[in-house]
Amino acid sequence: MKIRNPFKNFAEFIGKDTIAENESKKLIVVIRILILSIIFYFIMNIFLCNLALEISGAMMYIIFAITFAVIFALSYYCRSFTVICVFTIGMFIWIYLTIHYMGWNIGVQHFLMVLLVLSFFAVYKHHLAKVIFAILLCAFRLWLFFMFSSRPSNLQLSPMGENGLQILNTITIFWCISVIAFVFSNDTRELESKLVDYNNKLLVQANTDTLTGLFNRRKAMVYMEDFIKKGLSDSGFCLCICDIDFFKKVNDNYGHDIGDLVLVKISEIFRQEIQKGNFAARWGGEEFLLVFPSCNGDDAYIKLENIRRTIKKLEFQANDTTFGVTMTYGLAEYDYHNGLTATLKEADEKLYIGKENGRDRIVF
Ligand code: GH3
Ligand code: MG
Ligand code: MG
Repeated sequence: MKIRNPFKNFAEFIGKDTIAENESKKLIVVIRILILSIIFYFIMNIFLCNLALEISGAMMYIIFAITFAVIFALSYYCRSFTVICVFTIGMFIWIYLTIHYMGWNIGVQHFLMVLLVLSFFAVYKHHLAKVIFAILLCAFRLWLFFMFSSRPSNLQLSPMGENGLQILNTITIFWCISVIAFVFSNDTRELESKLVDYNNKLLVQANTDTLTGLFNRRKAMVYMEDFIKKGLSDSGFCLCICDIDFFKKVNDNYGHDIGDLVLVKISEIFRQEIQKGNFAARWGGEEFLLVFPSCNGDDAYIKLENIRRTIKKLEFQANDTTFGVTMTYGLAEYDYHNGLTATLKEADEKLYIGKENGRDRIVF
């Protein structure tokens, strides 16, 4: 027979998911760890009371331990919120009874901090409820202080007994708060890095044209405005708006899907320009925008002539025929005096002139 690792069994038992589908598993696991820690604390107290021959104290802690064991069992059958409520009431009662019986000096009142931290980390909604709960906790602690701080306890503990219980309480409280903070701070970190990834993904999506994977017009505008704002345009730059010739015919003759394929293939040529340090974007429909940084018109013209020839050489297959496309290019040098909009307008007008004069050409 295969013997299973008892620690693994225990971890699985503690880590069992909540019965409610819309509740976090982490929360119920934290509550279970807290309940078990407090049961362990009660057992230590039973042991200490027995040592001090305080049988009534030991009896009190046995009852507490049984009550919290029942609350632990509830965590497998009830919603997390119900378990937190019952756990909180249980904590209030034992803190009150312990201070009443053993006095203020052993520091049991600090366990209220565990409830405070738990409520702020674990209850995601209802901010007002959190604040009201914090005020109630504070009021309860003050009430306990005025009721019991100067009143002699039922049980007269020796200074050594008081110190021993102080140490046990302090360690248990630090442990409980650390468990809550550790689990939920990890949660926040995970969530933060997930959000950063998600935002980056959204930003990429917002800047990308879905069909071609090239930058879109929005990103192109941001790129050019940033470029000018950062003073990178001081060494001059050129921009070109280009448009596929008779693209409507491609769609009409071969279908929209083949038209899409043509756009994708041409985009691959433009993407190579990005790798060379230039910028390319789908400006709209079958129009593209190219930016050549630190380049005068003559240099950009030579680069564009290469692009024009490469695109003209592309071959596409449809309906057992092979066809090619050409593009017309309007090239403009950045106009310092009139700005970006005027330069874009100039490039657009040159494109129009190219179309008027027979297409498949660069107009500069
Ligand atoms: P010109 O040489 O004057 O530019 O002629 P043209 O036919 O290319 O110009 P026109 O503006 O008349 O047609 C552009 C066509 O581009 C019309 C439109 O259906 C097509 N188009 C725009 N976006 C897409 C797209 O994403 N996919 C496909 N397949 N076609 C598109
Ligand atoms: Mg066109
Ligand atoms: Mg067009």
